[in-house]
Amino acid sequence: GCGICPKRCPFGAITIINLPTNLESQITHRYAANSFKLHRLPMPRPGNVLGLVGTNGIGKSTALKILSGKLKPNLGRFDNPPDWEDVIKYFRGSELQNYFTKLLEDDLKAVVKPQYVDQIPKAIRTPDKSVKALIESRCAMKNLDEVLDTLELRHIYDRDVTLLSGGELQRFAIGTVCVQKADVYMFDEPSSYLDVKQRLSAARIIRSLLRPDDYVIVVEHDLSVLDYLSDFICVLYGQPAVYGVVTLPYSVREGINIFLDGHIPTENLRFREESLTFRIAEGTEEFIAEKSRAFRYPAMQKTLGNFKLSIESGSFSDSEIIVMMGENGTGKTTFCRLLAGALKPDGTQKVPEMKISMKPQTITPKFEGTVRQLFFKKIKAAFLSPQFQTDVVKPLKLDDFIDQEVKNLSGGELQRVAIVLALGIPADIYLIDEPSAYLDSEQRIVASRVIKRFIMHAKKTAFIVEHDFIMATYLADRVIVFDGQPGLDAHANKPESLLTGCNTFLKNLDVSFRRDPTNYRPRINKLNSQLDQEQKLNGNYGVHK
Ligand code: ADP
Ligand code: ADP
Ligand code: MG
Ligand code: MG
Repeated sequence: GCGICPKRCPFGAITIINLPTNLESQITHRYAANSFKLHRLPMPRPGNVLGLVGTNGIGKSTALKILSGKLKPNLGRFDNPPDWEDVIKYFRGSELQNYFTKLLEDDLKAVVKPQYVDQIPKAIRTPDKSVKALIESRCAMKNLDEVLDTLELRHIYDRDVTLLSGGELQRFAIGTVCVQKADVYMFDEPSSYLDVKQRLSAARIIRSLLRPDDYVIVVEHDLSVLDYLSDFICVLYGQPAVYGVVTLPYSVREGINIFLDGHIPTENLRFREESLTFRIAEGTEEFIAEKSRAFRYPAMQKTLGNFKLSIESGSFSDSEIIVMMGENGTGKTTFCRLLAGALKPDGTQKVPEMKISMKPQTITPKFEGTVRQLFFKKIKAAFLSPQFQTDVVKPLKLDDFIDQEVKNLSGGELQRVAIVLALGIPADIYLIDEPSAYLDSEQRIVASRVIKRFIMHAKKTAFIVEHDFIMATYLADRVIVFDGQPGLDAHANKPESLLTGCNTFLKNLDVSFRRDPTNYRPRINKLNSQLDQEQKLNGNYGVHK
């Protein structure tokens, strides 16, 4: 046993401290013998957005598949599945009885934005694969103009979907769902590949689908977005790939805090040993370091085709994290590549030579061999260092797949490998481009802590591109705001304080934030709420540490 559970933990896990006793009688679905089990189901409410939060592999997509009618729940009897009548009888007395009855009688039409948008182009069989044709063939509501404007689809409207970038594909997929007439709208991880502005726009268009009698369900790992989007929340906990349990519905604030805390007070149940917080105060000492070295980069210009980026000169020091904030297409990756020396600025300007290690934005594995072999080849010294193991490798849980082939890893596993590889290379400056992509909310918090601790302990500098606002504000000592016209003419400001930088950035987005008193996470104020109006009036968009 793990020494924490009162009894030997049946799963060999150390994460579950106590479990509800009646779980075995509450299996909603099991894929096969010895495979993943989902316990209970979330129950959506008409006229509300239900948010689902939980680690990867805990059954969120499975729950959506069941609620959309794509997967008939077998109540655990995978060898002898019950018919629908039995399933409905099983849910007797709960709102799910009514829900499944309607679903079965075709009285309830469900549409789903799938999790993996990259697979959409392959699945399309129609001859005309343009965004326009695909959206208009589904369009049954009067919101087409609003959808196209809000999701910024106009400039790609005639383009073939096979040519779209990840973010464009995501917006197309969300738009395709939003224009349909349905009773249940589901969005599985809508914020992937989107920048902060696009995430907020997506949240707004998703909320615009609410009518008194329809259902909206969203799975989301960006906790600010989930918070902003949802009316109530069900948390999924358990052991990834083994089993998942759905909690009762909670208010948004309570639900997210339960997830972060790892503890359900009403059930006196702890499902994670440690609670996740954003309070810097307690750990401050660890992060106050003497800054002893100064670096500078000159003002630079870079032209790439039609795109022009101008960069103000700036300086930074060791033991410092600078977060780059800006819309997609404003040159954040280009700036990283200039600093790294992978691109040369226009004219004769020169970036001083610095020792740089970079985690690129897109990670495509070419390596033949296991993760361990990759680490031995690229970062042997760090990988063998006990300090690096304790600070980086262990918390990112690489041991779970260290002997698997790199080519077979999931997106979230590859991302963690890429972070370890970048931090394992000795350098002065670490450039980390979008570390939260593919990570679940728990892994994002762990990854942020790992990066922060590593940079501060090793007295290095990091430049980090990050769209998850909770991660960005946790990580940042200072920020560089990118503005201008995405894809055409952009501008990188000098590094400035988190307070002034975020204020400028948030003002442009027309949102204000407050901090949750319990765990200090930033929360977006509902548009035009009293707090929102007051803060904006005072020019306080709300991000202080
Ligand atoms: P989440 O969306 O929370 O990341 P999923 O619902 O996709 O999780 O998956 C939960 C678990 O069920 C995972 O371990 C996954 O591998 C497993 N699983 C998903 N689909 C199937 C299937 N068709 N057959 C067997 N196992 C599956
Ligand atoms: P961000 O990381 O902020 O999303 P990027 O630095 O990746 O932005 O790109 C900024 C703009 O430059 C985008 O519009 C992109 O399409 C364009 N761009 C990037 N590389 C090239 C290139 N080699 N040729 C032409 N345009 C490019
Ligand atoms: Mg999923
Ligand atoms: Mg980029």
